[in-house]
Amino acid sequence: MAIAHILGFPRIGASRELKTALEAYWKGDLAQTELLAVGRQLRQRHWQCQRDAGLDFVSVRDFSFYDHILDTSALLGVVPTRFGWRGDDMDLDTYFRMARGTAPSGAPVAACEMTKWFDTNYHYLVPEFEPAQDFRIASSKLFDEIAEAQTLGHAVKPVLVGPVTYLWLGKAKGDIDRLALLERLLPVYREILDRLARLGIEWVQLDEPALVLDLPPPWLAAYERAYAALASSPVSILLASYFGGLGENLATACQLPVAGLHLDIVRAPDELNAALTRLPADKILSLGVIDGRNVWRADLAAVLDQLQPVHQRFAERLWLAPSCSLLHVPVDLTREQKLDPEIKRWLAFALQKLDELRVLKVALTQGRSAVAEEIEQATAAVESRRQSPRIHRPHVTQRATSLTEAHAQRASTYATRRQAQRAHLPLPLFPTTTIGSFPQTADIRAARRDYKAGRLSAAGYAEKMRTAIAHAVRVQENIGLDVLVHGEAERTDMVEYFGELLDGFVFTQYGWVQSYGSRCVKPPIIFGDVARPQPMTVEWTRYAQSLTTKPMKGMLTGPVTILQWSFVRDDQPRAATALQIALAIRDEVADLERAGIRVIQIDEPALREGLPLRRAEQAAYLDWAVRAFHVATAVATDETQIHTHMCYAEFNDIIEAIAAMDADVVTIETSRSDMELLDAFVNFKYPNEIGPGVYDIHSPRVPETDEMLRLMHKATQVLPASRLWINPDCGLKTRGWPEVEAALRRMVATARILRAESRAMEV
Ligand code: GLN
Ligand code: ZN
Repeated sequence: MAIAHILGFPRIGASRELKTALEAYWKGDLAQTELLAVGRQLRQRHWQCQRDAGLDFVSVRDFSFYDHILDTSALLGVVPTRFGWRGDDMDLDTYFRMARGTAPSGAPVAACEMTKWFDTNYHYLVPEFEPAQDFRIASSKLFDEIAEAQTLGHAVKPVLVGPVTYLWLGKAKGDIDRLALLERLLPVYREILDRLARLGIEWVQLDEPALVLDLPPPWLAAYERAYAALASSPVSILLASYFGGLGENLATACQLPVAGLHLDIVRAPDELNAALTRLPADKILSLGVIDGRNVWRADLAAVLDQLQPVHQRFAERLWLAPSCSLLHVPVDLTREQKLDPEIKRWLAFALQKLDELRVLKVALTQGRSAVAEEIEQATAAVESRRQSPRIHRPHVTQRATSLTEAHAQRASTYATRRQAQRAHLPLPLFPTTTIGSFPQTADIRAARRDYKAGRLSAAGYAEKMRTAIAHAVRVQENIGLDVLVHGEAERTDMVEYFGELLDGFVFTQYGWVQSYGSRCVKPPIIFGDVARPQPMTVEWTRYAQSLTTKPMKGMLTGPVTILQWSFVRDDQPRAATALQIALAIRDEVADLERAGIRVIQIDEPALREGLPLRRAEQAAYLDWAVRAFHVATAVATDETQIHTHMCYAEFNDIIEAIAAMDADVVTIETSRSDMELLDAFVNFKYPNEIGPGVYDIHSPRVPETDEMLRLMHKATQVLPASRLWINPDCGLKTRGWPEVEAALRRMVATARILRAESRAMEV
């Protein structure tokens, strides 16, 4: 025997049913009972899929109306005082107010902070601990869902985040050490486990992904305390780690008094042997052998070769699973009607991964011959992928390997380039610009819909886009901005736009993955060597430049961001794919330059999120990420001003890499933190030009000139005026024109005041 299970299933639904229901409920168009019913249907459907695949358990409580960490806060009664929660059973609207600040009932209030879940693009709500924090069971959702699954006759394995990871992910407000809360938290976990036992639960999965991080010693020690306190619980605990290897934490993890351990051997295949020697003989070993973070079909024969010796030793103590929750992959590949059949055969989404587990389990328990056909199909698909000429483009790999240092270095240093740029590009002190996108109006979206549906010709679509571009240029000239942009009307998304024009990418119709709450993304799939068959942005940019004598900034997305926001190849290192994308961008830079564009911005908002979880791996990542940027930009002559843009980031841990990128100008998001994020640049003595964002584009509110001036005064106190630009925090595509115009007018007024102030200082 071997047990097959999953760590969690995508909750959003194959047709994003949960998204639709949530948004209708928030708008007041759907009753709460109806929203609850949609949740129930989704859970039941997903449980049934697990059962149909022959899994030994269904996972319960991976479903959430917003986020599973927020669910844990609700379960444990961790509700900040400002929500006015009275301590009765947690109601859905208090829960939504914590997530979004508003809900159909209850007063609006500042939502909880949201941040990235480890190195994924999923965001969780950060638990907020107050000085007098206590914990108690405050929501019955977990127990209700268990009862619901049991009524349907399923064998239930509830999934909860473990106590140490839960505290690790939270933030303490005021003067408290969150680890010190562990002693108060453990009795509540113990009580939860006791209640699970009373419901007849045999196994509970406690997720402790913090174990794959570089943990400070007190946190590692906390694991021993925590699991010792839960050891006498009548429920068996499967401790789940994922997103990497345990490394030096492995010894501790193997010795914890829990019944079983789950390891991600997709990310950390080398750890299997170490675990086999360390794990006490009576423990369950759950092996994550199917990639929960990517969409490639598994090489089942190879996985079986890896599993067979372990199975001989562990027999029924071996469990099979995906590496992590399937939350991070789309639901169902069979719905894709437009994918090229050859490429489709190489892929597996969540439902297909369930089937892969089924085949593995049957092969182990009844012998490979029982599923010979399935294994053969998988092998054939893997072989076809390995050899396909669609993947391998020799000229791309040759070009990448023949790159020299000269290809990755601009001709001169920043100081020399600056002089050359100033000669060609007369700019005032405190030049003003924007980050790239202007409002994606209803007109623009309708044109794109019509074009995609065949109701509008290519020429008709291009005409509509030119109208939008001309409008954006006119508005910017009227406002008096210094460096203009074309407005990105033709782009729905900064990665999708380039992916669609590059070879080596495919797009799905329904490949949605939850990013946060009801928000989903549909990442492109990079399946092969990346090449640029023709220029991607030159025509739009040239047209925009033809409308104005002001400099027009060309807008490109950087290699790391394209990589980070796609499903990537697993048959070559990420660095190699990034370099191929960089080469395509490099050719675009050269073409833009040839078309007379003198300012080119290459956005890298995802640079920070690509950072590996382990410190030991970070330097290597930053090296290749920075090199990819250099390869993309170094083709530019000294006179061409290269900008980059970053947002969503703490810049402190990557400031050296940002400086090493050596862009002539970097624009960053700083207004929401009241310029605090600028500190990294100041402390580091950042040598090139910086545009600290002076207004928050996430809100429709138009800031006063005074507010922007105050922020810029903060900046001028710590950085020389000659190196400062003025711009918003990020692109403006989600805003409306009236607010954008008003805000930019005030931004330009701010620049004028600053220029007058500095002239006054000179005399
Ligand atoms: N150029 C992009 C825009 O303005 C940048 C978006 C981003 O940083 N996320 O929309
Ligand atoms: Zn941005």
